[in-house]
Amino acid sequence: MTRPPKVCAECGEGLPRDRTRQQDFCGDACRSAFNNRRKRRGAILYDLAMDMRVNRRPGSFTRLQQQIDQFIREDRDAGRKAFNAVNPERPCQTTKG
Ligand SMILES: [Zn+2]
Repeated sequence: MTRPPKVCAECGEGLPRDRTRQQDFCGDACRSAFNNRRKRRGAILYDLAMDMRVNRRPGSFTRLQQQIDQFIREDRDAGRKAFNAVNPERPCQTTKG
């Protein structure tokens, strides 16, 4: 039984099979783009979540959900893999390796 070919989480290009390490990206540019977007989105979600808990304004949870839905649409439109397709064991890949 063969596994499906792995692809870069950012650009979707095929990744070479490497028995010594798991790889989610084809190179530093894709790793950097993915992680920079992740950080930028995290800051947005942090502000929305804090606003929801601290200010307790009506509709704040809906705004948080809508923002996440927008991220999902952006990923889909850009042809990026679904979030859960990226290795959950190594969510913070800010350095090589
Ligand atoms: Zn790539």
